Amino acid sequence: MGMLSGKRALIVGVATDRSIAWGIAQAFHEQGATLAFSYANDRFRERVEPLAASIGSTLLMPLDVSEDAQIEQAFARLKSEWGSLDILVHAVAFAPREALEGSFTANTSREAFRIAHDVSSYSLTALTRAAAPLMAGRAGAVLTLTYLGAVRALPSYNVMGLAKASLEANVRFLAADLGPQNIRVNAISAGPIKTLAAAGIGGFRKILGHVAQVAPLRRNVTTEEVGNAAAFLCSDMASGVTGEVLYVDGGFSHVSMSFADAPAE
Ligand code: NAD
Repeated sequence: MGMLSGKRALIVGVATDRSIAWGIAQAFHEQGATLAFSYANDRFRERVEPLAASIGSTLLMPLDVSEDAQIEQAFARLKSEWGSLDILVHAVAFAPREALEGSFTANTSREAFRIAHDVSSYSLTALTRAAAPLMAGRAGAVLTLTYLGAVRALPSYNVMGLAKASLEANVRFLAADLGPQNIRVNAISAGPIKTLAAAGIGGFRKILGHVAQVAPLRRNVTTEEVGNAAAFLCSDMASGVTGEVLYVDGGFSHVSMSFADAPAE
């Protein structure tokens, strides 16, 4: 029996077969969960549909997280099809491309700040509010994806670092608010992975190369590894864990320089 047998999960954030959300979906499927998927717009529908079908999921719905009406419709559909929900996965982020390169000070407009925070952080509050009634009386779990840029400055990540800092605070406030209802809220801070969203960050290949050199495991992590950690956090095995940011980054966040080229004593 899998860790997630009998659980129903909504996965928000699959765009391609490289998406972190897809790694999570595959791990959840292996652990016995029943899955529903959403897609951001029609352009992504044709990519997400065959992926969902490949693991036997037929519940697929449009959901642009910046549109309140779409959030309402998506959860109304879940309520009518399933009646309840155990797990919500939020793997969504966006900022205008011009804000994700060059000078943070020069390139962070008011509009880029607003969009980044709305799509990448506020959406977690909005989706969790819509999901909570469906989790009533169950052991609910909400999971989001964050990045080291929330707590350390690095080139190009810019306004997205601020949005991730907000997202991590969001996790703590949601966890505090919903704990009494037995809903847990956690985040995974993943190491860099080559996905569609990552391709929008200036110099991303350099970040990948640096991590592979410096991280204790001397490599980058995979969507499968993030998926496995997500399955644990959303399962009853993690029933005592909430408000947590779990790093799945090969240990990169725990070192401050490369040991690879340190001179031998
Ligand atoms: P991805 O491009 O595969 O996924 C990003 C998703 O966000 C896409 O499915 C896209 O459709 C969705 N999205 C954007 N705007 C949306 C909107 N308005 N409504 C609904 N969906 C919207 O890239 P990914 O790297 O798998 O990103 C998933 C999450 O993981 C993001 O939160 C990202 O910041 C985070 N993350 C990524 C990395 C990395 O290196 N790839 C590292 C740490 C954290």
